[in-house]
Amino acid sequence: MNYKSKFGFGCMRLPLTDENDPTSINQELFNEMVDIYMEKGFNYFDTSYAYHNGTSEIAIKKAVVERYPRESFKICDKMPTWALTSKDDNEKFVNEMLERLGIDYFDVFFIHNINVPWLELAEKSNTFEYVKKMKEEGTAKKIGISFHDNAKLLEKVLKKYSDILDIVQLELNYLDWEDPSIEAHKCYDLCVKYGLDVYVMEPLKGGVIVNPSQEIKDEFKNYNSEKSIASFALRFCASLDNVKMVLSGMNKMEDLMDNCDTYENFKVITDDEKEFLSKMANKLYETLAVPCSECGYCIKECPSMIPIPKYFNIYNASKNQPESNIYRLYYDKLADEEVPADDCTYCGTCLDYCTQKIDIPEELENVCKHFENGFSPYAGEF
Ligand code: SF4
Ligand code: SF4
Repeated sequence: MNYKSKFGFGCMRLPLTDENDPTSINQELFNEMVDIYMEKGFNYFDTSYAYHNGTSEIAIKKAVVERYPRESFKICDKMPTWALTSKDDNEKFVNEMLERLGIDYFDVFFIHNINVPWLELAEKSNTFEYVKKMKEEGTAKKIGISFHDNAKLLEKVLKKYSDILDIVQLELNYLDWEDPSIEAHKCYDLCVKYGLDVYVMEPLKGGVIVNPSQEIKDEFKNYNSEKSIASFALRFCASLDNVKMVLSGMNKMEDLMDNCDTYENFKVITDDEKEFLSKMANKLYETLAVPCSECGYCIKECPSMIPIPKYFNIYNASKNQPESNIYRLYYDKLADEEVPADDCTYCGTCLDYCTQKIDIPEELENVCKHFENGFSPYAGEF
């Protein structure tokens, strides 16, 4: 099997010049990373209408489309399902995406993030029929869905549409493999049953896997001091037969180099390594307060515009380093500069959209309690 062809460049978290501005893509660094990635024989770029507020596609146009022959690379883009209001929107968005990218066909095209409310929107807007037509007319070479929900919904969708689809893009990693709320293993098995290829997103669960407690980092070092935690996570996914692509979001050159090394010297994951990763997954779950992957889908839906993943990120970091007071200061700063976490009205709107099935209002309450009760920002400073 050609494992090298499984390494995809995920363009949802590109390098930035200003960490607070998702549109400030560091084009120079991205171009350099693209050159190395292409030179080493990799060629797949995954983006969407929404990534970096629409500027991910434009950055790919500048770094890839305008600098390499069209047949030398592959691009995957995704229909913004949540924004569909009528049948005419399909064509409107597709034309806009082609224009942003400067191409006239997609190698892969997905209906983005099928969940209960967005499946309904896609069906009302005739989007499944529309992408089928795209494939027939050559605007998309392969078509599929990206999916973050449970196995029950996936089976419902595949029963209805597997005959027109080629691929399901799934959240899959060793942490979620047997997680009852994500059901990655069950979803993978369903794709195998329906004869569809699996493309993997979030192999590092938005960075959660590579930022564990020091104790877990030390266990990885003792197990194999030569290889990074990320390399184990990528090999776990790419070793599965039906997995044909594993995306990796990279915003640092060292991440790119590490991932290139993983695929250039690919080794199928062994049973002993799988057992070790399963143990590490259990440990990580014990120390992780909220399993947020920072995908950001909840923010778009929250009427109070609470920066939910930022609160969860600070909360997780604080739980991992209970001796540090810095996170209380970050918490106060976030509440001042954006929206306080206790502005949550418990409306529940976000719940249907959370890709990790987190009880967001309950966890926000825990965040507030953690930082506001008995956690002084100045404790221990005098
Ligand atoms: S429950 Fe809270 S966090 Fe969720 S959408 Fe409503 S206000 Fe926002
Ligand atoms: S709370 Fe859920 S939807 Fe929001 S960023 Fe985290 S994982 Fe994504």
